[in-house]
Amino acid sequence: MNLHEYQGKELLSRAGVRVQRGYVASTPEEAVEAAKKLAEETGTRYFVIKAQVHAGGRGKAGGVKLAKNLDEVYEKAKEILGMRLVTPQTGKEGKKVHQVLVAEDVYYPGPSEPEEYYMSVMLNREKASDMIMYSPEGGMNIEEVAERSPDKIFVEHIDPAHGLQDFQARRIAFNLGLKGQAFKEMVKFVKNLYKAYKDNDAKLVEINPVLKTSDDKILAVDSKVVIDDNALFRHPDIAAMRDIREENPIEVEAKEAGLNYVALDGNVGCMVNGAGLAMATMDLIKQSGGEPANFLDVGGTADAERVEKGFRIILKDPKVKAILVNIFGGIVRADRVAQGIVDAYNNMKGEINVPIIVRLQGTNADKAKELIEKSGIPVHFVTEFKEAADKVKEVLEAREG
Ligand code: GDP
Ligand code: MN
Repeated sequence: MNLHEYQGKELLSRAGVRVQRGYVASTPEEAVEAAKKLAEETGTRYFVIKAQVHAGGRGKAGGVKLAKNLDEVYEKAKEILGMRLVTPQTGKEGKKVHQVLVAEDVYYPGPSEPEEYYMSVMLNREKASDMIMYSPEGGMNIEEVAERSPDKIFVEHIDPAHGLQDFQARRIAFNLGLKGQAFKEMVKFVKNLYKAYKDNDAKLVEINPVLKTSDDKILAVDSKVVIDDNALFRHPDIAAMRDIREENPIEVEAKEAGLNYVALDGNVGCMVNGAGLAMATMDLIKQSGGEPANFLDVGGTADAERVEKGFRIILKDPKVKAILVNIFGGIVRADRVAQGIVDAYNNMKGEINVPIIVRLQGTNADKAKELIEKSGIPVHFVTEFKEAADKVKEVLEAREG
């Protein structure tokens, strides 16, 4: 589950990580109240207004603006709230901004220049351990840094038996070129950042930029935190932070129906049982010249109700030009699935306006074929993978022609 910047900062703060402080607001009036409160608590005179959407790259897209007084806080909040922010991470339709974070301006002048670093904590699957990735080239797109100057990206692997060691935290501070007070602050920052990652069962904690202020404080200016969905049951307070306005509405509906659905960009909807077969089916669709419109694993019980729900969810996506059902009758018998398809089709008469290709294999596949053919529903029944691919291709070409 993705969190907003302000929610991520809340979790970081609880773990002792110093963050750029702020309050969230949904209206320009609330933004002004937030700024007043912030000024009282931190003594800040300047503010930064930041769009809260589940996407990075907000700064360049006009979603992060400085405000020098309360009138400007009102104006900038008004500009950002309600806008559709388009960044490289939102897709071209963009994301609507419902909330802004009113934060203290932390780039104030002082004895030294503020400096920006990059730091993230995530699991390295190859090494089967957590890692801290960091770079002195912060503030900008880290993929660009990786491409242009890979020597500027450092990694610290964390032994799961020993946890993050002090010398590792010190090595990070050293490689970032820090000295004195800033060095000590960075060591503390790294330790608490890793603690925040562990304590909250995060899959990713990414801070870009980490800031060294002009008076040598180290703090998180931004936060991207992703929590492991499978661990949410033990963090009810984090589960309550979910903002479904940020999620794909079809995915939300599928989740509620207990279906494993991921929306994709293509034109061929697919309904499959088992994640492995789903992946193979998506490859099959690509080979036939189509593009998968989704990943949908209906699981072990492909009965009429689930098949119908699956069809309905797939058809909500207007890009879908054909549906491929590819189900293996292992635990579930193919003839039962066939019956499910027939019943679902009859229940949805008139609502299905795209061709359906059904491939059923496994236990009672011949009965399944007979059942579908007898029912008279207009689906293309196939038994082989290759046949399925050819049929998808034929159907797509016919629709284009
Ligand atoms: P992102 O663009 O979505 O990654 O959003 P960030 O939270 O990283 O903010 C984008 C940029 O805004 C940062 O890289 C900073 O350069 C700038 N920024 C953020 N907070 C402040 C601030 O308090 N003062 C100033 N002057 N700039 C800020
Ligand atoms: Mn950022």
